[in-house]
Amino acid sequence: MKSHARVVVIGGGAVGCSALYHLTRLGWTDAVLLERDELTAGSTWHAAGNCPNFSTSWNILKLQRHSTALYERLAQEVGYDINYHVTGSIRLAHTADRVDEFRHVASQARAQHLDFELLSPSQIKARHPFLELDGIRLGLWDPKDGDIDPAQLTQALAKGARDLGATVYRHTRVTAMRALSAGGWRIETPAGSIETEYVINAAGYRGGEVAAMIGEYLPIVSLSHQYLITDDIPALVARGPARLPLVRDPDVSYYLRQERHGLLLGPYESHGRAHWLEGLPSEFAHQLFADDLGRIETYIEAACARMPILGSVGVKRVINGPIPYAPDGNPLIGPAAGVRNFFHCCAFTFGIAQAGGAGRVIAEWVVNGEPDWDVWPLDCRRYLPFANRTYVLAKALETYRNEYAVGYPQEERPAGRPAKTSPLYDRLRAIGAVFGARGGWERALYYARPDDPAGPECSFRRPHWHRAVARECAAAANGVAALDLPGFAKFEIEGAGAAAWLDHLIAGRLPREGRTALNYCCSPRGGIVSEMTVSRLPDGRFWLISAAAGERHDEHWLHAHLSQRHGPVSIANVTARYGSLVVVGPRSRELLARVTDTDLSNEAFPWLAVRTIPIAYTVALAMRVNYVGELGWELHVPSEHLPAVHERLVAAGREFALAHFGLYAMESLRLEKCYRSWKADLTTEYTPCMASLERFVRLDKAADFIGRQALRKAAAAGPKERFVPLLVDATDADAAAVSIVYRGAEAVGLVTSGGYGYRLNRSIALAYVRTDLTAPGTELEVEILGERCRAVVAREPLYDPDNLRLRA
Ligand SMILES: Cc1cc2nc3c(=O)[nH]c(=O)nc-3n(C[C@H](O)[C@H](O)[C@H](O)COP(=O)(O)OP(=O)(O)OC[C@H]3O[C@@H](n4cnc5c(N)ncnc54)[C@H](O)[C@@H]3O)c2cc1C
Repeated sequence: MKSHARVVVIGGGAVGCSALYHLTRLGWTDAVLLERDELTAGSTWHAAGNCPNFSTSWNILKLQRHSTALYERLAQEVGYDINYHVTGSIRLAHTADRVDEFRHVASQARAQHLDFELLSPSQIKARHPFLELDGIRLGLWDPKDGDIDPAQLTQALAKGARDLGATVYRHTRVTAMRALSAGGWRIETPAGSIETEYVINAAGYRGGEVAAMIGEYLPIVSLSHQYLITDDIPALVARGPARLPLVRDPDVSYYLRQERHGLLLGPYESHGRAHWLEGLPSEFAHQLFADDLGRIETYIEAACARMPILGSVGVKRVINGPIPYAPDGNPLIGPAAGVRNFFHCCAFTFGIAQAGGAGRVIAEWVVNGEPDWDVWPLDCRRYLPFANRTYVLAKALETYRNEYAVGYPQEERPAGRPAKTSPLYDRLRAIGAVFGARGGWERALYYARPDDPAGPECSFRRPHWHRAVARECAAAANGVAALDLPGFAKFEIEGAGAAAWLDHLIAGRLPREGRTALNYCCSPRGGIVSEMTVSRLPDGRFWLISAAAGERHDEHWLHAHLSQRHGPVSIANVTARYGSLVVVGPRSRELLARVTDTDLSNEAFPWLAVRTIPIAYTVALAMRVNYVGELGWELHVPSEHLPAVHERLVAAGREFALAHFGLYAMESLRLEKCYRSWKADLTTEYTPCMASLERFVRLDKAADFIGRQALRKAAAAGPKERFVPLLVDATDADAAAVSIVYRGAEAVGLVTSGGYGYRLNRSIALAYVRTDLTAPGTELEVEILGERCRAVVAREPLYDPDNLRLRA
């Protein structure tokens, strides 16, 4: 075996081989793949090989779109035959919500140049004569769906990589790994060791085992998934080589397609099964679990009713194999936090359909330092340590049984909750809080009242809780309202070198002592990596606050760029040590004055100031900033004191009719102020200039910050698209993230956030739009659930344009 390679991929399934293939395409041909058995011996060999484009996730859609385009040309490109049948597919809709979902996804897909089509029952029948269509409202046609032979695909990818110089070692199991002091890794195998600069963990359901070798826990569990293949069906034999489109009946929860002259049926059943909770058997490879048809009996019956020819013959073969699941069913892709040059690319539940795209993303990450697409929902750093085995198991089983459920926006599923709660959790629940989980933290979404109208929690249209949200927004605008925000990521930076180091990290200016400022960290390519509120405290200390979901991501970014060049710097993650209370509204000063003796006047405590103020039996770090655009303060309070501080506020608040508000109201209020949301409006695919945030970038500052060169170039060229607010003439549904913006027939932009603004009584969309169409007053259209709605470019912020309320 070679003693050195620039990069080593562990695992020779579809995903590992795709990573190897894409590395070589990017010029990294000194690449090695280590496979403990034969290529495909994990989950790949037995996969059904379905390759949809469809997904309710924007990022999964990207991966799958890249895969299907690659698979169409791969056989010819590398000279290796692959059975790949592009048959098209039909998804069946039984309900109105499913129809809304299809309309929503069809629009997203169009933004990625995929032509999905909605079919009437008679059009379905014309494409698939064997389907019974009772109760079916319509179908969604994905013309590029189909099935591929997973083993041939894997071999073709491996061949493509080998042809460019990569090496594949089969029967070479990785047994241990050690970080080298000079950087890079030493990998041990029974055949000897190999040193490498970079490692990619593509070990499939054994991804957790490989992660454990570097001391990391990955949230993965192995479930079993099965499909059956029937004997030949005379009606299909009679059709000769013609193949039926693939069918998915998500409201019942199965896929059903032609396999040679028989049919292949695979359900996602409501009672999934987990395996190997105490550890994986070391010799399991190229094997299956025992058939367990009893688990899927009801689905077989339903499928036979839908396609009667299915029941006309016997079952030829059952495949029941291991399939890895992360809690949300999405893969774990990206850099391992806390170590250098180690990447994960595992836990794929649809790894055949996603291998092409995933290989591209991980190869770009390794070679270029970041992928072209921002794939945060797939990033392995989205999970924090609470996502332990208990959590993964509960969540994975829930995800499995909902694999085909309608993908509602804002759905909050119950498994694995509550994981982390604020000390105020019980109090808030007692007054009607309805919670959702963010980064594992339970946060109030809204406060229900007994006389509120009932209705489903989830819908693509405005659900019943919009009335509660309207009430909470009115309280914040007219009186005073409080929001508990546990889990806000908080980092305390100290040391003589702290200021100089931070200046190198952020694109903007560091605040003066006693002040706070919004700041952006950019990647070397100028994309927005992180948004942080930076406060400078006495004694050269800084507090950085960022999104709850980004805790591990931001901590990783800080540590990865830590430098003691300018003097000592230390980073402490104080997220869980402090709770955060937001107190906002025109009467917030009066209320706070009742609970602290600090001077809160504009002169003593102006907008963007930060002070420590005594409240109850503690001292809170108070910042005169907020995300809702009203007079107000953020109070960061030691967690053990939070209930006492809250009690004081509530007692004093009776005089002011203090209201409580939740995340949904905050979302509505921030839309009106056009405050950007991290990973919705701000991603690595956008520069601050595109995001219309130039005022937060100091290209000419003394410190040479990360991304400056790229941002200079981008500023000189001018952005092709810019972030603007749109006022939308919507009826009962608002623009969702990734809705298309049109000018006539032409797609000219993409919505990144949308919703209803209750202070303005308008439907709002925040969007990136072609720069020549960003003048206020420009008439455009936004597609919402298949309908074009008039949208007019407006000037930001939409609410309180001179920030008079914030500065009041
Ligand atoms: C019944 C069934 C049907 C499915 N149908 C579909 C489908 O239609 N479409 C779809 O997209 N997906 C499907 N899947 C899922 C799909 O099989 C997986 O998502 C996919 O195969 C994952 O590929 P992978 O390369 O990530 O992992 P794997 O194929 O599991 O590859 C990982 C490789 O790593 C190797 N390895 C592990 N540990 C080590 C080590 N220490 N050293 C060296 N090598 C190591 C393993 O031997 C293995 O070869 C199905 C799954 C099942 C169970």
